[in-house]
Amino acid sequence: MATLGNRKNTADIIERHRFDFRKKFGQNFLIDNNILEKIIEAAQITKDDCVLEIGPGIGTLTQRLAEEAGEVIAVEIDKNLIPILNETLADYDNVTIINDDILKVDINKIVEERGERPVKVVANLPYYITTPIIMTLFEKHVPLHSVTIMVQKEVADRMKVGPGTKDYGALSLAVQYYAKPEIVTKVPAACFMPRPNVDSAVIRLTRYEDTPVKADDEAWLFAVIRASFNQRRKTLANGLANAGNLSINRQQVEETLAEMGLPTSVRGETLTLEQFSELANRLLKKRT
Ligand code: SAM
Repeated sequence: MATLGNRKNTADIIERHRFDFRKKFGQNFLIDNNILEKIIEAAQITKDDCVLEIGPGIGTLTQRLAEEAGEVIAVEIDKNLIPILNETLADYDNVTIINDDILKVDINKIVEERGERPVKVVANLPYYITTPIIMTLFEKHVPLHSVTIMVQKEVADRMKVGPGTKDYGALSLAVQYYAKPEIVTKVPAACFMPRPNVDSAVIRLTRYEDTPVKADDEAWLFAVIRASFNQRRKTLANGLANAGNLSINRQQVEETLAEMGLPTSVRGETLTLEQFSELANRLLKKRT
């Protein structure tokens, strides 16, 4: 079957099915075969793998995934795309299409049912769910091998950067706690139909077997991190002391910072993951 990863073949199928793009579902279909191949190469898929694809669209990436993987599970929210997928994926007997919202699907169950078979997520993600889906996959400890995704370029940068940069924040720390991030390629807006307003990037996140720091209570660590970045232009001490859900007071925060040799005026964006982990572990012991 001719690739869908170009403008003409994508336009033809959309016209033939009288498909209307729905902005609310973040529908920007990939029309560049070179980028498609870069995603496939970065995902390092073998016939032993099961790939979970989020948002297959008209099946452009799905066809290539089906050729490389043992099995593909593609979850698409838009029911109007299902007849198109049934047509474009008719030649592949290793693809299961699920018409549902990925945020409502029990991903842990899908992975557990695969037993020993490694599950890799590969997707050109609808941008509006990038952060929730990443946080769900990692916080629920879905035992995935890797996640190779197309996201907004600015979001890929946020996942990758370290302390001291303007993009560094709760998402950077969450991603780097669970996985090693590597930017695969930048992707200009012209590679999509319709063309989005922003550039994109492909990022590969390889899950660590053991997290790089030891948090005494993971949920508490992330509550501390979120509170530290809540008031971005204010100090970390303000963010923590004003967070109603943490039950810690200013004195406890200032004491802890002093124990760690940090000034009370320190800002969240300057602390490393190791420092956040130490701060959270110390605060946990002082919590009233
Ligand atoms: N994979 C296709 C490609 O690369 O051309 C389409 C990518 S498009 C950026 C995002 C796709 O995700 C769309 O098909 C959209 O309908 C679907 N989608 C949006 N929200 C979703 C959700 N919550 N669950 C599952 N699919 C979703």
